Amino acid sequence: MEETERGVLKDGDPHPAAKIALKWIRDNYSYQELMLQLEAFSSCAIEGNRLSEILGETLRRLLNNEPISDRYIMGLSWYLFDNKQSEINEEVECGGCGKKINKSKMHPETCVCYECYAKQHLSW
Ligand SMILES: [Zn+2]
Repeated sequence: MEETERGVLKDGDPHPAAKIALKWIRDNYSYQELMLQLEAFSSCAIEGNRLSEILGETLRRLLNNEPISDRYIMGLSWYLFDNKQSEINEEVECGGCGKKINKSKMHPETCVCYECYAKQHLSW
């Protein structure tokens, strides 16, 4: 086999990384989260968003266990991966000190950061 051919997929051969992409989706999104995402895609698709049309149909197929080609899986998983990253990096404003901080550093049941929470609740 020629050196260049070894790195080329034959027609109809799925990309080996598509399996990893699919596993990543399953490991990082629950069925409920994917259903919510599908609803979001559907409402954007109605407004003519091309990306949502494609991703929505891919996700619908995935949830119904219908066959999907590798490039659609790769596209969907990259979108969802990027989504997760921005969720992780999302910044919110603390209701106490007003500082912009990473969402993960906010006290989950209040609108303040852990520092403000501690000041409000743990002072004596
Ligand atoms: Zn604060």
